[in-house]
Amino acid sequence: MKGKIFVITGPSGVGKGTIVKEILKKVQNLYLSISATTREKREGEEEGVHYFFKTKDQFKKMIDSDEFLEWAEFAGDCYGTPKFPVNNYLSCGKDVLLEIELQGAKQIKEKCPDSILIFLAPPTFEALEERLIKRQTESIDKVKIRLTKAKQEMKEVKLFHYLVVNDKLNEAIDNVQGIIVAERCKIDNCV
Ligand code: ADP
Ligand code: 5GP
Repeated sequence: MKGKIFVITGPSGVGKGTIVKEILKKVQNLYLSISATTREKREGEEEGVHYFFKTKDQFKKMIDSDEFLEWAEFAGDCYGTPKFPVNNYLSCGKDVLLEIELQGAKQIKEKCPDSILIFLAPPTFEALEERLIKRQTESIDKVKIRLTKAKQEMKEVKLFHYLVVNDKLNEAIDNVQGIIVAERCKIDNCV
């Protein structure tokens, strides 16, 4: 049986990375797709672990040679999901988790209609702002761009199959885990 694609999308700073890290520890047979990006490496990030860091030229070459399952521009940088590893996991019956932004999630929904799309939302816009500022990974200008983006993204929640509000972290982790477990137990999977 082929593996499934789980997509986690939500505004920058909502807690996607934090939740994904915990989910990968708790859920067996689930593999994270490592994206390519043109954004600068943050302190503590490692090549091939957090992202494959590319120049704009390298990224363009990957687009031209059709290496992405999806890709999008976000806040001035490009991000994309390399096709080959995802297809490899799926054909071996392994499930894959994509942590991507809205435009990418839309592309996946279109290209891979069996994918399960989860939207992660903050409890309030103020909480999101506080998390982004506290994280201290972007300049205030970039935080503002990400917050403007967040308002647009929140309007498209209806495209998703599930909504999880990340208020209390442990509850949000349990809910995402519950969704994955329930999807794996669906009768459709066996007939
Ligand atoms: P994203 O990957 O969506 O951009 P992160 O996982 O980097 O977001 O989380 C942004 C910041 O918010 C981090 O500093 C993280 O520790 C914090 N955070 C995540 N979840 C919660 C939560 N439920 N309550 C408070 N802070 C949180
Ligand atoms: P960050 O710069 O904070 O790591 O990521 C910015 C946004 O890009 C986040 O919403 C993240 O989920 C998204 N992102 C990361 N990788 C990809 C990808 O491969 N494709 C798309 N479309 N978005 C991605």
